[in-house]
Amino acid sequence: MNLHEYQARELLKAAGVPMFEGGVASTPAEAEAIAAHLGGGVVVKAQVHSGGRGKAGGVKLAKSPAEARAHAEKILGMTIKGLVVHKVLVVPAADIATEAYVGLIMDRGTQRPVFMVSAAGGVDIEEVAATNPEKITRLAVDPVYGLLPHQALSLAFTLYTDIKQVRTAARIMEQLYQVFTANGATLAEINPLVTTPDGRVLALDAKISIDDNELDRRPDLAALRDESAEEPSEVAARNASLTFIKLDGNVGCVVNGAGLAMATMDLVKYYGGDPANFLDIGGSSNPDKVVNALRIITSDPNVKAILFNIFGGITRTDDVANGIVAATREFKVNVPIVIRLTGTNEKEAFRILEGVGMTALSDMDEAVAKVVALAKEAA
Ligand code: GDP
Ligand code: MN
Repeated sequence: MNLHEYQARELLKAAGVPMFEGGVASTPAEAEAIAAHLGGGVVVKAQVHSGGRGKAGGVKLAKSPAEARAHAEKILGMTIKGLVVHKVLVVPAADIATEAYVGLIMDRGTQRPVFMVSAAGGVDIEEVAATNPEKITRLAVDPVYGLLPHQALSLAFTLYTDIKQVRTAARIMEQLYQVFTANGATLAEINPLVTTPDGRVLALDAKISIDDNELDRRPDLAALRDESAEEPSEVAARNASLTFIKLDGNVGCVVNGAGLAMATMDLVKYYGGDPANFLDIGGSSNPDKVVNALRIITSDPNVKAILFNIFGGITRTDDVANGIVAATREFKVNVPIVIRLTGTNEKEAFRILEGVGMTALSDMDEAVAKVVALAKEAA
C-alpha cells in the first residue's frame, strides 16, 4: 500500500526527520488559507501515488496565497500517470543549495533492507541510476544489528563534506531506517533531501510503501488507505478477496493459486502474448469469486481475450464452471473466453459448460496458445 506524501511526512516527522510543517487542501480556497497562515512563499504539491509529479506540473512554487490558490486550481483534478489529484499539500518553500537522494528498499537479492543514497538527487534520479549508477551508493543492512552508527556516517559522508550536515544526514538515515522497520515498509524514500544556502538539511519529499501483509496487525496504517487514489480494478479485487495486479497486456487471466498464476503468465509470454493481469481466485471455489473476477477483468478495455486456467484440487472445477455461467448471465462478456479445467469434478464442470454451449480444454499449452492467438486476432 502506498502512502501519500502528506501521510509519509507524518511518520518521518514523528521520528524526528527535519521538515517544514504544512497543510493538506482539497479545494483552492483551502490551499489559499493554508498559504496565508504559513506566510511567505509556499509549494503546492499534488498528492498522488506517483513519482515524477514535479515533471508533470504537479509541484508549483507560489509567492503569495493568491498564487497558491491559482496553482491549486490547476493541480486539483489534473491527472498524473493515470491518477486524478484530489488533494494538494501546501508547505513553506525552501531555498535549495543541493538536492540529494536517500532511499531504503526491501531488496529480494540480498534479502535485506538496502540503502541507496546519492548526492545527485532530485527529479532526475532515475536518469542518474540508468546512466551513472556509480553515483549511487548502496548499503545492505543486517536486520539483526540494524543500521550501525558508523554505517550511517559513511553513507552521510557520500552526500556532504560539512561535518554538521554529515551528522544530521546520518541521523536522518537512522530515523528513516527506524520508520521503515517500525511500519513494515517495503520502500521509504526522501528525494530530495536538500541543504539550504544557510546550511540546514531538510526533507522536501517523502514516499513510503507499506507491505500489504503488514496491514492486518497495523490498523492505524491500514486506516491511511485512500481508495480514491488507487487503481479502481485493484480496489474492487481487494474488496472481493481476490489477489489481483493489473498489468499492461491484453490477455486476461483467471487462475487458482499464486504458483499456477505465475506459471500461466510465463506460458502466455512463452506463446508470444502479454498478460493483462495477475489474478488468483484462491483455493476455495466460490462461484461469486469467479463472477467478481470476470467483472473486474472485462472492465479493462485492453483485454482482448480471457483465459481460465483452473487446477481442481481443493478448488472444485464445477464451482468454477458455475461461476463462469453465472457471470455470463449477469453481464455480457464481449471478448472470447478460453477455459482450461482439470482435476476435482472436471466431468461435471465440462457438462455444465457444454450445457450453455461453451467448451473447455484440459491441456494447458493448448489453451494458452489458443487464447494468445485470439487476443492477437482481436488486437
Ligand atoms: P516529485 O517530482 O514527485 O518527486 O516531487 P518533489 O516533491 O520531489 O518535487 C520535485 C522538485 O520540485 C524537487 O526536486 C525540487 O527541485 C522542487 N521543489 C520541491 N519543493 C521545493 C521547495 O520547497 N523549494 C524549491 N525551490 N523547490 C522545490
Ligand atoms: Mn521527489
